[in-house]
Parts: sequence; structure tokens; C-alpha cells
Amino acid sequence: MSPTLAGASRTLVLNATFEPLGIVSSRRALLLVLATRAELVHDTGVLFHSERASYPEPSVVRLARYVRVPHDRTVAVNRRTVFARDGHRCQYCASPAESIDHVLPRSRGGLHVWDNVVAACRRCNTRKEDRLPHEAGLVLRRPPVAPRERVWLLAMSGGARPDWVPYLSEQSLTA
Ligand SMILES: [Zn+2]
Repeated sequence: MSPTLAGASRTLVLNATFEPLGIVSSRRALLLVLATRAELVHDTGVLFHSERASYPEPSVVRLARYVRVPHDRTVAVNRRTVFARDGHRCQYCASPAESIDHVLPRSRGGLHVWDNVVAACRRCNTRKEDRLPHEAGLVLRRPPVAPRERVWLLAMSGGARPDWVPYLSEQSLTA
């Protein structure tokens, strides 16, 4: 059976435990469902048509069996990924982000790691200089943390479908 596909949507794949695992083409996701390797959780409202039948195009599927995720799936710390995590907003004043700020300045030993970098506007970054936020009268809107899942960044960079949001990590809800 090889269903023909009109659209080319993406499908969020969840582990058996409902943790997000990755994003695949909706055609591939449908094949997983038809092979009973995954169950349909949400559909897009569009139908795939094969010669004999129609199938709902998957938006979210859940694997039937648990897949172990390797621990080395770390996400690189750079302007694009930090901006995505922080919703492209300055983490001090919520203006559009223009730069990366090291919370503990590099000149004072701060590292270029997820829990020490935030998106910042130029004004806040300039005001902060080589100081800690409280020394410059700035307050972080939330403490920076490493994104738990690579899939979250993929979804944010490509735009998550609304029915994916409950399954993605907490940051995506406020981004
Ligand atoms: Zn700012």
C-alpha cells in the first residue's frame, strides 16, 4: 500500500512516553501508522488518498514502542538557537532581540553555555556592559536553561503547528 500525497506537511513524532522525538514528513508518519508502528494522535484535517481508501494526514503521531534517546543530542549555542529559545525577545525588557548577552560576563569568567546566555536588545546589552544584571538594574524575565529537546528548536525555526504545542517543551509555550 502506498498512499499518494497531496500536501507535504510535517508531523511531530512522539515517543511512547509522549516526549517529542522529531519531525518527519506526514507521508512517512502515515506509513508508520499504517504499519502499526505508531498511532495517530492528531490529524491535519486533510485526507491522503490511495486507490482504495482515504487516510487522515497525521499532524502528531506516537510510537507504539519506546525508543531510547541518546544523551548527546545537545543543541549548539549560537545566535539562531538562543533567539529561538528566547522567542526573539530581549530577556530583560522584551524588546526585539538584537544580540546575545552573557549573564555572567565573559570578562568575569562567564561561559558560552545555555544557562549563561540570553537574547538581549542592544540597549540592555550596552547598559549592562561587564556587570551582572542586578548590578546594572536589570532583571531577567526567566532564568536561561538549555532546551531539553532538539525537536523544539526544529519546530520553532519552522513554525510549530498549534496541536504540537502541548507536547513541546515549556519554553515553546511562552515564545
Ligand atoms: Zn532589552
